[in-house]
Amino acid sequence: MAHDSSDATTVWQKLKAGVPAPGDGPVAAVFRCADAGISSETVFGQSAGALLDVSTWGHTVDTSVLASLEYAVEALGVPLVVVLGHDDCPAMTAALRAWQQAQLPDGAMRAAVEHALLSVVRRGAAADSVASVASAHIVETGLGLTQRSPALARRVDRGECGIVCATVDPADGTIRVHATLGVEETNGVLVEMV
Ligand SMILES: [Zn+2]
Repeated sequence: MAHDSSDATTVWQKLKAGVPAPGDGPVAAVFRCADAGISSETVFGQSAGALLDVSTWGHTVDTSVLASLEYAVEALGVPLVVVLGHDDCPAMTAALRAWQQAQLPDGAMRAAVEHALLSVVRRGAAADSVASVASAHIVETGLGLTQRSPALARRVDRGECGIVCATVDPADGTIRVHATLGVEETNGVLVEMV
């Protein structure tokens, strides 16, 4: 099947390859972890303005996150949402500690950690490393977006938008894809969602 230049798979391939976007507005929305220590633009080799960047600590999804992503897909018409986690994530380390030692942070950080733990339970993941917790949480967060946003789900159903759940190694920029929805990705996908 032919792809036009704006479809999710094409945009994802260009982002992965670090091909700079033409520069007339965002080509994708990236929902990343606030403690990543690396910008989405740096990860994907893009200049400022090429990505609509949304970040929270540990990928907590709230109304402001959903509104930002819906603005990207509905108002701007971007065909791709990337849920981007990262290696050695402090938030996922806190979640693993909570799982193994029942030590939870206080305040609002507790809710973020609890969300990550819920992802581990829902995915039936082995919570034996920061990487496995991160993978479960990234995939569950990506799935959860279509469950919590009818607008996004509708776009995905129509083939107008795709979602990629990935993690990056900030040290060398290696990107690992954990799940995709409406995006063709044959290299190393751990979970295929339909
Ligand atoms: Zn993080």
